[in-house]
Amino acid sequence: MTQFIAARRHEELGAEFFDPVAPADFPQNILRHRDQRWAERIGLGHLSDEEWLRHFGRFEPLPGSFERPLALRYHGHQFRTYNPDLGDGRGFLFAQCIDPVDGRLLDFGTKGSGRTPWSRGGDGKLTLKGGVREVLATEMLEALGVYTSKSFSLVETGEALYRGDEPSPTRSSVLTRLSHSHIRIGTFQRLAYNEDEESLRRLVDYAIANYYPHLAGAADPAAALLEAVVEKVALLGAQWIAAGFVHGVLNTDNINITGESFDYGPWRFLPHYDPEFTAAYFDETGLYAFGRQPDTLAWNLTRLAECLLPLSSIEALEPALNTVWPIFRDALPRAILRRLGLEPGDADTNNGFVTAFFGFLSTSKAPYEQFFFDWRGGALSAERAARSPAAELYMSEAFRPVANALESFAPSADVNLEHPYFARERPRTMLIDQVEAIWAPIAESDDWSLFQATLKEIGEMREAYGVA
Ligand code: AMP
Ligand code: MG
Repeated sequence: MTQFIAARRHEELGAEFFDPVAPADFPQNILRHRDQRWAERIGLGHLSDEEWLRHFGRFEPLPGSFERPLALRYHGHQFRTYNPDLGDGRGFLFAQCIDPVDGRLLDFGTKGSGRTPWSRGGDGKLTLKGGVREVLATEMLEALGVYTSKSFSLVETGEALYRGDEPSPTRSSVLTRLSHSHIRIGTFQRLAYNEDEESLRRLVDYAIANYYPHLAGAADPAAALLEAVVEKVALLGAQWIAAGFVHGVLNTDNINITGESFDYGPWRFLPHYDPEFTAAYFDETGLYAFGRQPDTLAWNLTRLAECLLPLSSIEALEPALNTVWPIFRDALPRAILRRLGLEPGDADTNNGFVTAFFGFLSTSKAPYEQFFFDWRGGALSAERAARSPAAELYMSEAFRPVANALESFAPSADVNLEHPYFARERPRTMLIDQVEAIWAPIAESDDWSLFQATLKEIGEMREAYGVA
């Protein structure tokens, strides 16, 4: 049996970085979701549901963990306006552990666990629908090969919440995510804003020691860290595009310095390719629209570079920052080819394919996910694609360049078209109507069967795509 390896590294940063807090005392604790696969991986698979609720509903410390949860301090740019009044206002760092498989330092971070010094006027709570949506987003993204936080636990908490964007009163929940760090660009911004150079240096050292240990001993730690973060965040941008995902709120406080996607609010998946497609109703200008995400990540990374200036120099930071676009341009075709189960070729071949791919999806309005499903393994899937609901589009003149380009790539070893998932007519998707359809029976009659069946289906998709 895997042993749970607790860690309490975040405490080492010192009192300047967090506030010890108490969890809310919830009237009810009803287990709605536990990620048993990840629980087993980190050595918590043996917990009974009762024990689980003690830790992830009432937040009794895990063995070897912090005595009290830590509400983390941070600032951030929200829709490009600087906000020094952020911080963990409805969540905290509950515990940390080491992933026994790859040695990563993982965080248990909550959403909806009650008020903290950073709650301002908020109630510190999460709606059940918000919790359900985060579970669906993370399960889908993981299956589609996006580096994402996991929704480790979702517990319904028996309160009635009032929200402007949901029919109210609405049910409440507390989510625990399993995440590779909760240090955000905004964590650095706060220290730069406070002109606290000593803490800034400590945070850089901490980030290197815990998340980028191969950079230990770098002559310019800040520049080395920036270069590493730029790479990870640019890769994430490529993965979101390849998954057809719009995060929705790409504020600097929602960008993890490990490049892990996290904090899912008004997210959406694209029905078909549309760079203007916007997730959040309050994003009136489309600042965080699908096609603007890479640009936004680049803007956010520039904010990180600015914070690091006191520890480094423009001459050292600028070259790191200038790698955003080259890395993204290289990563985008790779991410798309990876989803298609095709081995990348040289840069020209890859780029030629991507141009044809977006050209076709843009003019044909073919369903985005269907394309990846239909053409998994490229030419290997030609017969399957001919039976697809989108088959007619693949016979059009507009598809010819894509068909030609597909021929240039060999299928990857992990393509497994024998998997029953590929016998379906349509792929598992998570468009907004489907999300609402999963929520409706829960809201109307507390019927969780569609939610559970959906998670099972997503699990099959993950297996079919060979995601470990
Ligand atoms: P988010 O949009 O979830 O990234 O949150 C932005 C900021 O608002 C963070 O500082 C959150 O902690 C805070 N916040 C969001 N919702 C609430 C709430 N219901 N109660 C208290 N703080 C909240
Ligand atoms: Mg956030």
